[in-house]
Amino acid sequence: MRIETLAIHAGGEPDQATGAVSPPIHLATTFQHGPAGERVAGFEYQREANPTQSRLEECLAAMEDGEAALAFASGMAAMSGLLECLPPNTHILAPRDCYGGLRSLGQEFLPERGITMRAVNMCNAEAVRDAISEDTSCVWLETPSNPLLEVSDIKSIAALCRQKNILLVCDNTFATPVLQQPLALGADVVMHSTTKYFGGHSDVMGGALVFAKRDALHEKVSHRRHITGNILSPFSAWLILRGARSLAARMAWHCNNARKIAEFLSMHPAIEKVNYPGLASHENHLVAVSQMHDFGGMMSVHVKGGREATLAFAGKLKLFINATSLGGCESLIEHRASVEGPNPVSPQNLLRISVGLEHPDDLIEDLRQALS
Ligand SMILES: *Cc1c(COP(=O)(O)O)cnc(C)c1O
Repeated sequence: MRIETLAIHAGGEPDQATGAVSPPIHLATTFQHGPAGERVAGFEYQREANPTQSRLEECLAAMEDGEAALAFASGMAAMSGLLECLPPNTHILAPRDCYGGLRSLGQEFLPERGITMRAVNMCNAEAVRDAISEDTSCVWLETPSNPLLEVSDIKSIAALCRQKNILLVCDNTFATPVLQQPLALGADVVMHSTTKYFGGHSDVMGGALVFAKRDALHEKVSHRRHITGNILSPFSAWLILRGARSLAARMAWHCNNARKIAEFLSMHPAIEKVNYPGLASHENHLVAVSQMHDFGGMMSVHVKGGREATLAFAGKLKLFINATSLGGCESLIEHRASVEGPNPVSPQNLLRISVGLEHPDDLIEDLRQALS
């Protein structure tokens, strides 16, 4: 079955008790069992597993074509839930451009377990090969990356990792399984912030891991989630599952809008550069073409004239809301350097844009007036 169909039907059987077509939200924390703990329908206690979350996990696994999925309370909970299961006293390679939370985990928390993180240019498979050492336990990809939309060649890097028995993880938040399926390209685990496109309406936090194999690592991460309590509420699981149902349709419109906006901005004299993998001018456009069905709703732009011109542009927009996060119906824009704390890594003339689901002509008119 194709992903548009799986997105709607996986984990979507009508409720057996009532025939309800939309799944019930089971809020029960505890499930009746027999006097010797015999389970009735497989569930015991909400923290371990629960029916609403299981439906979501079934859908996520089907959409990424993995054997198993685990839902978490946020993208960061999913990320740390996996990284904390890596063997201590090892070394991981992470993209030089990546979600800031990964960098913070690598600087502040992983070293406590003897895990060091090294930033690598993941656009270049040879740089990855050179950075791999005896102690490397994991290569972490994020493609396209946040906020520079750098693209890594998942298949080539997967081949390197397989040779050396290194775990390959891919943060697939920007692309979603609708546009890119890292497990099919050789990754072992996919990570999502389901807060973004899966939720799709800027009103629910969640994260997920999808495993190519239901193996010992999956079991370890699952047990760790159970014991540390790093779980979603059933209501959040239900909202994310509801978002998954329309993900493919929404992504098509996000991509359509983003392509038009990237083209408009790349021709505009006030813009120095547009980072969007769908543009032929993107450094890794051909890799993106080979591994993505379409190029997503995210981009970033470098504005001519430095920080002041950049903030003036962001301030004059009427439809694009200045806010963090991404993947919702409404278009958002953010001057990353202003929100990255005392030592920002993003250039002062960079704006990240999450293109929403408005009409593209209205978005382009808004950009045009703000740049004039
Ligand atoms: C938002 C995001 C995360 C973190 O997810 P949360 O749900 O905010 O914890 C991780 N990776 C990427 C690429 C993101 O955009």
